[in-house]
Amino acid sequence: MVEWPEVDTVLLDMDGTLIDLYFDNFLWNERLPEMVAGTRGIGVAAAREHLYAHMRGVPRSLDYYSLDYWSRYSRLDIVALHRELSHLIEYRANASRFLRAVRASGRRAVLVTNAHPKSLAVKDARLGLTAELDDQYSAHAFGHPKQYGEFWSTLSQHDPYDPARTLFIDDDADVLAAARESGVSQVLCVAQPDSRAPKRSALRYPALDDFQEIMTF
Ligand SMILES: [Mg+2]
Repeated sequence: MVEWPEVDTVLLDMDGTLIDLYFDNFLWNERLPEMVAGTRGIGVAAAREHLYAHMRGVPRSLDYYSLDYWSRYSRLDIVALHRELSHLIEYRANASRFLRAVRASGRRAVLVTNAHPKSLAVKDARLGLTAELDDQYSAHAFGHPKQYGEFWSTLSQHDPYDPARTLFIDDDADVLAAARESGVSQVLCVAQPDSRAPKRSALRYPALDDFQEIMTF
């Protein structure tokens, strides 16, 4: 699945790739609508539909991933909500072992994420993720989400990775397409970003389930 002799750098997404998307799905799809329903005196289903409708209006922009944006919109402290639910933040299967093995093999492991810095901070406090990485880059610092070529051209100005000798793993096919377009030679998707949701099939790119599958260096 991976041509390891051709890889010096592994770029990795966070939510749904290294970290189980269950946390984000529970927070955004269950807990937040419940809280919005409580503060506005409406039903949970109505609150969820209200949030989803608004989310559809800000697709693929950095606002979509911004905790500040959604805190303002919902008038709730979403960073505090992250901390309150932080016991639900978990690595996906063998993600932490994979990071250690990549670096032990002499390769670089680098995080590239659309997650808001305040979300990354809560996840890092729980898992110690950044200590397992050579570097990390947030789309919020670059001004463009990973779905856009501008993210990748900015990344190449900040990080010494050679796209021709890079593997990128992300659970979002549109993000993988943008990476391929920028010259990243090997990409992998994730079959089951949320461990409590069904495994996805018919994906656009080859997909791993457990990092163990690609620990073949
Ligand atoms: Mg992701």
